[in-house]
Parts: sequence; C-alpha cells; structure tokens
Amino acid sequence: MARREALMACPSCRHDRNYLCGRRVGCTRCNRRWSITAGTVMSGTKLPLTTWFRAMHIMTSTKQGVSAIELGRRLGVSYPTAWYLAKRLRRAMTERETRYVLGGSGPDGAPVVVEADDVYLGGERNQGSGPGGKTRMIAATERYEDGRMGHVAMRMVTGFTSRAVRAFADTCLTATVRVHTDGLKAFLAFGTPARSHVVTVSGSRRPSRQRTAPFHGLNTAIANLSTALKATHKAIALQHTSDYLGAFCWTTNRRHNMPGMIHAACRAVATSSILTRHRAYDEIPVLLG
Ligand SMILES: [Zn+2]
Repeated sequence: MARREALMACPSCRHDRNYLCGRRVGCTRCNRRWSITAGTVMSGTKLPLTTWFRAMHIMTSTKQGVSAIELGRRLGVSYPTAWYLAKRLRRAMTERETRYVLGGSGPDGAPVVVEADDVYLGGERNQGSGPGGKTRMIAATERYEDGRMGHVAMRMVTGFTSRAVRAFADTCLTATVRVHTDGLKAFLAFGTPARSHVVTVSGSRRPSRQRTAPFHGLNTAIANLSTALKATHKAIALQHTSDYLGAFCWTTNRRHNMPGMIHAACRAVATSSILTRHRAYDEIPVLLG
C-alpha cells in the first residue's frame, strides 16, 4: 500500500496525503517525513517490524497466551525485550477494547441482554493485590436471543460496591441495556437510570453444561481467563492486570475470525498511544469505582 490517507495526517501541516519510504512516511505537501510507528506503542522501537508481526501471531494464535520467557525464546530476543513487547501489544489491544460497549443489537438487529458477574482473580498465588490477596473484577458478556454469546468485557474494580457497578456500567455498557445477574446487592446499581436489571440465577449458581443456558458463555469466559493466567503467569502484579484482561477480551471477541487476527492486531497497534518502558513498569493500576 503506497498511500495511507486519513489514518495519518501530517504532524506539521495536517495534510492527509502521504507516501511510504521504507519505514518512514512523507507528506506530499511539505515533504516532512516521520516514522510509521510514531505516536503508537511501537514508537521508538528498534526491533524489526517482522519481529512485531511474529509476536502478534504468537500472542493471538494460542488460546492460553504465552509467557514473556516463551515469547523471547521463540523470537530470539531477551526476556526484558519480550516482556516490553508483549506489554505494548496487550496495551494496544486493551485500548482498542475500551472503544466498544456491550448491549447494542445482535447481528440480526435483535436486542441482546448482558449477563454480569463478580469475580475474584488470583487468590493465594497473587498476594499483595488488595485485601485477601485477591483482585476484584466485574465480567460481562452479551447474550443473543438464541443463547449464543456475543462480546465480553472485564474490568478491575475497587470493590463490589454500587459505585463500582455504576462505573463499570457507564464504561462498558450501552445506556439502555438489560442486565442479568445473580442478585448480588451492589448489582442493583445496574438498574439505573435507563438500564434495567433482572436477577436470573440464584446464589447456588450451578453451571449448566448447555451452551445456550444462561450464564454459560460468561462462566466459560471466566474459566478460560483463569486457565490462561495460570498457564502463562505465576503471579500478576496489579498494575499489569488490566492489560491482561484487555488482551484476553480482545482475543476472545475475535475468536470467530482467526485468519483476521494479525490484521486486527495491526489496526489496534496503529491506533494505540505511546507506552514508554518506564511507564510500562511503574504506572498506577486503573480500578473502577
Ligand atoms: Zn505536511
């Protein structure tokens, strides 16, 4: 592709016609040139683009994900390089996921309901992530009329409070969606102002094996997340958890289009923002509520 109109405006004159010259983009009006990776998570990278593409392939083609050690081994790069690369790809996916809200209409235009649940992550293997060593999150999935599962969203919260539930709803759900839960008291906050809240399962919550059963999709997604985290990470620091959740949701939400994964990952990277190495290690975790 020689031209990348609209996606990249010239940083000097905002002209939107440009040409590619190796890894650099040139403005057809003022001839300023800039790096194709400028302003994204790839900003300033010294790795060959092919290494990035291989990393995208490795990270999106396995359901369980890969550890930074394994990624480094397969790419032939050091552990810190692999870790920083994986962190930036997860961040790009996470940023992409923040642009979607659950609860629109299904492929056939039929309304979807959203099923939501409270989840504890980590536990004894993840000491230091808040009281009891556990990270709290709210997970939600869309459910179509025929029972199939749509998109999934997961966010860390400060606690299972009305305030956190409202923050989750305002961040992740449409304004008029119907939300099904198990009736946890804080979930009443899903019912305001234009959204409706229905308690559909009791506290015993015996998971049904039927694919179309209520909460089957959500329970499966939570189980898959748990398996993926255990398989690839001994313990996750709190400041990286939101990127793991974002990348997991990104991959899950694209599970029906495996051949399009690399293309989707490139799009996520192209629209991402800079993440410096320093900030990648030290930034403060984002919790709703
Ligand atoms: Zn220009």
